This record gives sequence, structure tokens and C-alpha cells, in this order.
Amino acid sequence: MHEITVALSLLDGVQATALEQGIEHVSAVHVRVGALSGVVRDALLFSWDVATAETIAEGSLLRIEEIPLAVFCERCEDERAPLPGSGLLCPDCGTPSPRIVRGREMQLVAMEVPA
Ligand SMILES: [Zn+2]
Repeated sequence: MHEITVALSLLDGVQATALEQGIEHVSAVHVRVGALSGVVRDALLFSWDVATAETIAEGSLLRIEEIPLAVFCERCEDERAPLPGSGLLCPDCGTPSPRIVRGREMQLVAMEVPA
């Protein structure tokens, strides 16, 4: 299962930041997940609960911001959002547009500590 690996790597980031900042417990973690990352939201939420058991992030909420795929179309000279299932084709002119602008993210954005 891919998501458990993702959850563990996010947790690594959380723990490293918490150590640096002297944080003892984390109540919520915000992440940005691109459409091309291949992560299934529900599976990631489940994996998060499993991965964080008995860690500083136990019981924390994982807030996932999903980033839609965007490519730069050379012909339109602008950003376009390919239709789901169409690969990297520009939805307006059909040009294959391998220059991905957004959609591959897998980032830790912020974390919250209990008030
Ligand atoms: Zn185009």
C-alpha cells in the first residue's frame, strides 16, 4: 500500500519539525497532495491514523488539500487543466503538454499544536 509509505514520510517531516521547535504534541497536519501523486485520499487518512499511533501526532487530524493537475500548453501559451483520463493533453487544442505546472505535490504545509 503506497499510502502508508506516504504517511510515514509525512510523519518524519512532522517529527523533525516538532523536534526543532520543541513541540510535544501535534493536533492537526496540513498537506498538499497533487492529482498525479497517485494517493487515494481515504487510504491516506486511514494510513495516517495507523502511522501516527503512539507518536507525537497520535489522534491528529490530517487535512488534505488536493491540487488539480495543470500543464503548460505550448500552442495555447497558457496553463491548462487536462481532462481526467486524458493524460497530458491540452483540453482546448489537444496538444500533448508534458510540462507539468502543478499536480505532483506531496508536501507538508503546516501543523497545528493543541491550544
Ligand atoms: Zn492548448
